Amino acid sequence: MKKVAVYTSGGDAPGMNACIRAVVRGAIYHGAEIYGIRYGYNGMIKGDMKPLSSYSVSNIIQKGGTILKSARSEEFRTKEGRKKAYESLQENGIEGLICIGGDGSFTGAKVFYEEFGVAIVGAPGTIDNDIYGTDFTIGFDTAVNTAIEAIDKIRDTADSHDRIFFIEVMGRDSGYIAIRCGICGGAEMVLVPETATTVEDVINTLKVGKDRSKTSSIVVVAEGDEIGGAIEVAAMARKAMADADIRVATLGHIQRGGAPSAKDRILASRMGLSAIEGLLNGRKNVMAGVMKDELVYTPFEHAITIKKSLSPDLLRMVKIFNS
Ligand code: ATP
Repeated sequence: MKKVAVYTSGGDAPGMNACIRAVVRGAIYHGAEIYGIRYGYNGMIKGDMKPLSSYSVSNIIQKGGTILKSARSEEFRTKEGRKKAYESLQENGIEGLICIGGDGSFTGAKVFYEEFGVAIVGAPGTIDNDIYGTDFTIGFDTAVNTAIEAIDKIRDTADSHDRIFFIEVMGRDSGYIAIRCGICGGAEMVLVPETATTVEDVINTLKVGKDRSKTSSIVVVAEGDEIGGAIEVAAMARKAMADADIRVATLGHIQRGGAPSAKDRILASRMGLSAIEGLLNGRKNVMAGVMKDELVYTPFEHAITIKKSLSPDLLRMVKIFNS
């Protein structure tokens, strides 16, 4: 393979730039020409791509976001859209692709490979850490650290005013971010989609805390929790605890931004290099990942369909610390 391209797709994540840099430098080291496709699948459809030099990825390892921009593409979900994307790649002589994105982006990559035979290797870039085939995804560590910083600050004000805060963190259908934030932020309770918790459980835990003379409490709520987001859970709690001063904080998109942590820069660099080397060595329809500190490749099929489970010992720990 002499000419390949890299793109970022879906939600952006800190460390995507470090991954782009690794892909570009790795490709050039191995003698391949590397293009950057802007705006994910939308850019592929429009032919928005240009060659990248080693210099073009200088000074980006420390930057959040993605220099290639990202997008969610409705057109790529259609066969006609994917046909246009294939034609753009043909026109530019692109023989293989590196996709940096989440499970949706890999689902698109898999469909594209099956329909048009385009060789694609993925690098998991998403703060959600919901992809099988890697212990951690690019951006997860930074997102957790950002959220913890915010939770620490909220704890100060919660304590000063004797308040109960319901803090919503991102993670889509996964509680990975929530459970780690809960542990690191000393939360009284963590609500995650992986375990069924009732509003009564929440009220009981808060009441136990109050009986133990706790004047303030933090409950971390994963955005995908089955009871609802922090706003809904707080509304239910207010009805049952009329005398409590209950507030809500939704951390939102600050979790996606910022300089990637050291851990994310290393992970992104390792997976980017592994992805491009895999592609140039003939791998396709797989994702590069790191499991137990070993570089591994996992078929897209498994990466997107196998559910990564949340460590039960983490959930148990929160309960024990607040019993
Ligand atoms: P994150 O989890 O961080 O949000 P993601 O990669 O899962 O990232 P999605 O919005 O789910 O983000 O997917 C990115 C893009 O992948 C979609 O906008 C769409 O263009 C493409 N895609 C997703 N699913 C499919 C599919 N079934 N067929 C074709 N393309 C798809």
